[in-house]
Amino acid sequence: MTASDAEPRQDTGGAGAAAGAGDTLDRQAEGTVYLLHFSEPIGAARHYLGWSGGLEARLAAHGSGRGGRATKALVARGGSFALARTWPGGRALETHLRKRGPKRLCPICAGSAPEGMIPAATL
Ligand SMILES: [Zn+2]
Repeated sequence: MTASDAEPRQDTGGAGAAAGAGDTLDRQAEGTVYLLHFSEPIGAARHYLGWSGGLEARLAAHGSGRGGRATKALVARGGSFALARTWPGGRALETHLRKRGPKRLCPICAGSAPEGMIPAATL
């Protein structure tokens, strides 16, 4: 039993990499707020505004129908989505942007961005 001072035994499988800094809540809330623009409307929605600490994995989840109800429905009917925009920030920012309305924030809807759809099958 001659381990070093600290023996990290908590391995819950999360590759959070958030250790180090003292603050947990604020720091862990950092990540990426992202806006998805759908190739076709799902119900009344044509966007998905979300937050993730690991955007790439999250997008892959969306593409395979595991990212949420709207994208699941979208993928199920053969639609696709584009990553329209991202903002660095936490859940508070997500809430703030959601209140403003995703459509107003979408560069694709505004015609100021090329419509680069991500085919769900390639994710
Ligand atoms: Zn849009």
